[in-house]
Amino acid sequence: MSANSPEATPDSPAVPAPVVVAIDGPSGTGKSSTSKAVAARLALRYLDTGAQYRALTWWMLSNDVDVSAPERIAEAAGRPAIVSGTDPKAPAISADGADASGPIRTQEVTAAVSAVSAVPQVRTRITELQRSIAAEAAAEGVGIVVEGRDIGSAVLPDADLKVFLTASPEARAARRSGELSGANAAGLAATQEALARRDRADSTRKASPLKRADDAVEIDTTELTLEQVVECVVTLVEQAAARRAGQGAAVR
Ligand code: C5P
Repeated sequence: MSANSPEATPDSPAVPAPVVVAIDGPSGTGKSSTSKAVAARLALRYLDTGAQYRALTWWMLSNDVDVSAPERIAEAAGRPAIVSGTDPKAPAISADGADASGPIRTQEVTAAVSAVSAVPQVRTRITELQRSIAAEAAAEGVGIVVEGRDIGSAVLPDADLKVFLTASPEARAARRSGELSGANAAGLAATQEALARRDRADSTRKASPLKRADDAVEIDTTELTLEQVVECVVTLVEQAAARRAGQGAAVR
């Protein structure tokens, strides 16, 4: 079946093996849009790991956990049930049964999430969740696209394909402010500054920082359209799936 086939479904996937795809990179590089589009096109599952950290942060803010105190964050890290949907066409996330998909995108959550996600107890808990969702897909013979910051380097180091997306700071800020509201020069500068602050926090933390895995394919999306990036990643996934299917046949 061609990757462009509209008939690809989880029962009739477009790739010949249940591939595990890690897509990492800083915000504003097109990670989410690319990951969702690739997963939808190839009938793979999709996991937004940033949404999990955001949902935990939202739950803490809503339950009066002092997110400026790492020890309070550590104590609360295991408390709420975080449940992620894996349908790329309808991503869903809840914390203790409450739909978190809207609230996790607020400024308040965005401003606090890097501090929460830097706490080792938070990372251990969310990493376990991520691995169990990937293992469930594998057990059911379905591939999965997992997007985040440390997926290829720490969470799923044996992924069949690792992609690391980058883009210039200007392009990233322009995309992000376009998503948030009507772009203007002041808004753009503030967004660029906020992104730089979050990148710094995410890249310099001790526990599994934002990092390109040595064996990741790096794609600079600055000059590319979303469709071009998706085409490129779809081709890489098809190649990875064919390799995996070939290895399976060799073992059998
Ligand atoms: O991707 P998104 O912007 O929604 O991620 C929100 C935050 O969650 C990041 O800035 C980072 O602090 C954290 N995160 C992480 N590890 C991941 C995914 C996200 O630490 N795998």
